[in-house]
Amino acid sequence: MVIYREEYRLYNFGPHHPFSPVRLEMLTSLLQALGVWKAPLSPPEATREEVLTVHSERLVKRVEAASRGELFPDLEHYGLGTGDTPVFPGMDRAARILVGGTLEGARRILAGEKRVLQLGGGLHHAQYDRASGFCVYNDLSVAIRHLTGAGLRVAYLDMDVHHGDGVQWIHYEEGEVLTLSLHESGRYLFPGTGHVHEIGRGAGLGKKLNLPLEPFTEDESYLEVFEALVPWALQAFRPDVLVVQAGADAHFLDPLADLLLTTRAYERLFRLILEYAEAYAGGRVLFTLGGGYSLDGTVRVWALLYHIFHGLPLPERLPEGWLRAWEARLGKPLTPTLHDPEGAYPEIPRREEIAKRNRLTLERLTELLAPHLLH
Ligand SMILES: [Zn+2]
Repeated sequence: MVIYREEYRLYNFGPHHPFSPVRLEMLTSLLQALGVWKAPLSPPEATREEVLTVHSERLVKRVEAASRGELFPDLEHYGLGTGDTPVFPGMDRAARILVGGTLEGARRILAGEKRVLQLGGGLHHAQYDRASGFCVYNDLSVAIRHLTGAGLRVAYLDMDVHHGDGVQWIHYEEGEVLTLSLHESGRYLFPGTGHVHEIGRGAGLGKKLNLPLEPFTEDESYLEVFEALVPWALQAFRPDVLVVQAGADAHFLDPLADLLLTTRAYERLFRLILEYAEAYAGGRVLFTLGGGYSLDGTVRVWALLYHIFHGLPLPERLPEGWLRAWEARLGKPLTPTLHDPEGAYPEIPRREEIAKRNRLTLERLTELLAPHLLH
């Protein structure tokens, strides 16, 4: 089941902001041009009360006021009105529409649906009391809390190149939520957290896992640590459902980060995640989108996800008409194939050293977890 509505595009920080609704427009038009787009389920927007299951009243009041053009003087204290997360008219409803999509995904899972793809959301930086990093309300956490409220154990897997900090902190002391984030190390990149030693507290101890990766990590090293860590953690935790933030900003074309994944890695990752869901989560999986700031790379990664999610054969070339129209609109050439071409970027000289460091980080994480492991 796919969840989407046109109004997702109302979540718009303006024409020069990287979190652009053009990504969704390109993606849905590509899937239409490829002839694989099926009418999605249109979700209701989340209510104020639903947002308040994970956010403070103070934050919500400020978002609502800013939506009407009334600016609290302490907005920046709440992460709003900043360069990253500026305010715009109607932002409260726009954010609630995205939350509604992910929450509807959770409801569908509870109603018996196995696989849900929410073509939006993934706003993993939003915290209990603070908007952050393009994220106003945390749709993932609202959905996760809905699932745990119904008695389910939830494993959250964050593929975005940035640490999934909002989701981690909101559920930091919860034993029924496993969070697993693979990201570029916070030594260099926003939000600066996601260190191996952040392993949870109280009932959540040993259930918050972070694998910070070296800048310029490539497909092979990423897949090596992913395949070592993720199934191991899922097997130990035994979730009822897997929630996946499928950010595409670890792609090598991404302008905001420095990992070097290609579409080949993403194809493998999406297939593995579906296998893991079958093996460890009763087949139940809810995907959302997330970051991804190269239009060219992001749209192809998410088109891959859509195809693999539906078990469709992968097209090789993208439709000519679609390419011509978008190249004209964006004023630049686009990759004409779904997959990246071979040798798409120059060889990385420190390749082996990077892979070795990532292996060491994984070792440190497993050592730290050993006494607490996921019980
Ligand atoms: Zn990101």
